[in-house]
Amino acid sequence: MSKIVFFNIPAFGHTNPTLGVVRELVSRGHKVWYYSYEPMQKMIEEAGAEFVPCDMYTRGIEPGRREGARAGSDLALSVRILADTALALWPAMLCDMKQLEPDCIVADSMAVWGKAAALKLGIPFVSSTTTFAFNKYSSKIMGHGFKELLAMLFSMPKVNKQIKRLQKHGYPVKNVLDILQNDNDTHTIVYTSKEFQPCSDTFSDRYVFAGPSIRPVSEEVHKTKDRLVYISMGTVNNNRSFFYKQCIAAFADTEYQAILSVGDLTDILQLGELPCNISVHKKVDQIGVLKKADVFFSHCGMNSVNESLYFGVPLVMCPQTPEQKGVAKRVEQLGAGVLLKSMEPSTVLEAAGRLMKEKSYKENAEAISEKFKRCSGAKGAADKILSLCCG
Ligand code: UDP
Repeated sequence: MSKIVFFNIPAFGHTNPTLGVVRELVSRGHKVWYYSYEPMQKMIEEAGAEFVPCDMYTRGIEPGRREGARAGSDLALSVRILADTALALWPAMLCDMKQLEPDCIVADSMAVWGKAAALKLGIPFVSSTTTFAFNKYSSKIMGHGFKELLAMLFSMPKVNKQIKRLQKHGYPVKNVLDILQNDNDTHTIVYTSKEFQPCSDTFSDRYVFAGPSIRPVSEEVHKTKDRLVYISMGTVNNNRSFFYKQCIAAFADTEYQAILSVGDLTDILQLGELPCNISVHKKVDQIGVLKKADVFFSHCGMNSVNESLYFGVPLVMCPQTPEQKGVAKRVEQLGAGVLLKSMEPSTVLEAAGRLMKEKSYKENAEAISEKFKRCSGAKGAADKILSLCCG
């Protein structure tokens, strides 16, 4: 039996894809400890790992919901949050790892404390990357706009201050690229296919492109119309009442059934009276919905896009952060979705109609799906982790 430790940040998008891997490891008789946060406890325990809470170390320094939502578009803020968390967790994590002596540490690419502990104690390490893998080639292809580049330049002094803080406490980070970028020496699991990952041939054979990790359906969805539109802006930056109202106006009393997932900050009553072809929820079983959906209006979080394309569902895309814009650009390149040009109800309705009428979007989404289904999946990811435990 191998002892494996997972570290993650408090984000569903970073946790969901790892759960299949945990399940696979546990089913093969290995012991998994998972360091994470209270909102994720139930799902981690259901996957079979021993949940270890990190909340008490970061209490008082954790970002509020608004700040957390802003972090995806604000490099200085996200590096500050990571540095605060890393420093708060460091002494306890190090002490735990010395006692546990795991055979392998698996940490989300943002959970820098996991890699630092592994390096410090000479423990085999695997990076769990739930976005596209980033290096100088893929980031060029994903092409950030001038506005983002300018914002990045302006934030560099603040970012460097945080890097110095980490260095002072013994963290092995040379610059911000050590945090943002994947490197070819690190064993890495990426939860998409080689074909969907931009410039996949520039990553070393230490990478496993395991494909999307699709959870079992927990709630079957009943289609009440021939065509089902699903609308979700993810789990982080989803307080977007105006957009939801425009969507409701667009699909009210049409030939479509629309399901909206609006998150727990949106006041559903504020969205007005709902026509009977539209339902609004704080959270849905997204896998269950996507299995039946015809179109997905998405913010283009990597997991939502992976899950949508896994089921061959083309996307109408409303990205906000640079990362989401990169994902949307890739979907556009492969012809599996369109960007939403405005929030006017007529434009919203037209975008859905276009994906239905022009068959190429569905065909391209299905072609990506086929490649996803040929990936090694949770089994391949578990093989990678266990190969390091034995070595
Ligand atoms: N999700 C869900 N139900 C919802 C909304 C989202 O299960 O109502 C899941 C979705 O399946 C995905 C994750 O939450 O696995 C969202 O991750 P993503 O990377 O798409 O976006 P984020 O929330 O990180 O912005």
